[in-house]
Amino acid sequence: MFLVGEVILLAKYRPRIVVVGAGIIGSAITYNLAIRGADVLLLEKGHSAGCGVTARAFGWINVINGTPGDQNYALWRKAVVEYQHLKDALPTAFSSARSGSLIWKATAQETEQFAELHRDAGEDVELLQASDLRRLVPRLRQVPDVAALSPNDLALDPRNLAKDLVTAAVAAGGTTRFDAEVCAIDAVNGKVSGVRVGDETIKADVVVMAAGADIQALTDRLGIETDLTTSPALLLRYACNRPIINHILRGPRLEIRQAADNALLVAKSYVATGDENGPQLIGEKFLAVMKEELDLPSDVALKNAEVGERPVFSDGLPRLGLLSEVGNLYLAVGHPGVILAPLLGRMTAEEILEA
Ligand SMILES: Cc1cc2nc3c(=O)[nH]c(=O)nc-3n(C[C@H](O)[C@H](O)[C@H](O)COP(=O)(O)OP(=O)(O)OC[C@H]3O[C@@H](n4cnc5c(N)ncnc54)[C@H](O)[C@@H]3O)c2cc1C
Repeated sequence: MFLVGEVILLAKYRPRIVVVGAGIIGSAITYNLAIRGADVLLLEKGHSAGCGVTARAFGWINVINGTPGDQNYALWRKAVVEYQHLKDALPTAFSSARSGSLIWKATAQETEQFAELHRDAGEDVELLQASDLRRLVPRLRQVPDVAALSPNDLALDPRNLAKDLVTAAVAAGGTTRFDAEVCAIDAVNGKVSGVRVGDETIKADVVVMAAGADIQALTDRLGIETDLTTSPALLLRYACNRPIINHILRGPRLEIRQAADNALLVAKSYVATGDENGPQLIGEKFLAVMKEELDLPSDVALKNAEVGERPVFSDGLPRLGLLSEVGNLYLAVGHPGVILAPLLGRMTAEEILEA
């Protein structure tokens, strides 16, 4: 409380909130805290936002890959609605996003059942016939008899979105530090008191651990056990010098989309089994499959092949909330992080600020 002449100003106490990790989840949390007027500092060990597994994500915002009835499914549905709000609030962050995906299974019957399952769950799904598909994707060589069109799905660059969220957070009063690795979280009397970056101690009233697969290193030091594991997946990026597909395509052999710079992105599951099956080699071999499926320009070539470790819990659900072991220590980790980030970001901010 400050006395200024006759006027009494009540200074509202604003807890200092430190967010650890500027992946898509930490960036979304920081953005949501900053726009609500919180005193938030985002610390990231890398040079920029979205440089962790977020940089290797395919960037497909959808519900259609979920299974109606699953616990996760209800969360995905809320998450895609949250994306619409984010799109309204930050339209420029979505200026290069594309919409719509086409999915088909090994047989027409399977595709029809798939579409029906999702339509019954309330999703906007349309069945397209081969003639429609030839028109929509003229470069498709193996045109299926039918495919499910999910028109509202988004394809975006998750790393750029993380950067845009951080930029918006800073514009709203948040602060950030890059190349700042948190090596420890300090607690006094069972409550968070700060974090350490090198020799420096940074005071904090609340700490949000949004360090993705790396949270293990932080929780281990505090003696906190989590059932977090990692699941590797491969992102292949092929240089392409012109637009060839508009939709995300997912068939039995291929999951592909075209990025804003025309690069073709392919997501694949990955099992590390030695150099003969290394990411680069898989990427080079996979070009042959792509050429069987699509009429590709002759100069399409592998640009890079990167493995990302997705942070997953045994039940497939994210973890969000205050930990019981240390007061004011918040955990925000989960998969699929890109889909969930805007929702987790808002929920985290509201929970912390309303506590
Ligand atoms: C090939 C592939 C395709 C995928 N496709 C999709 C998709 O289409 N849709 C989807 O939703 N998800 C997808 N994912 C999953 C998605 O990438 C992750 O779920 C999501 O990026 C996790 O975000 P995050 O913010 O938790 O983690 P991260 O992006 O890893 O962010 C954590 C950040 O914390 C930083 N950090 C770690 N430790 C510290 C420390 N001690 N101090 C400071 N900073 C620290 C890291 O540098 C990193 O930047 C895909 C993943 C892969 C690999």
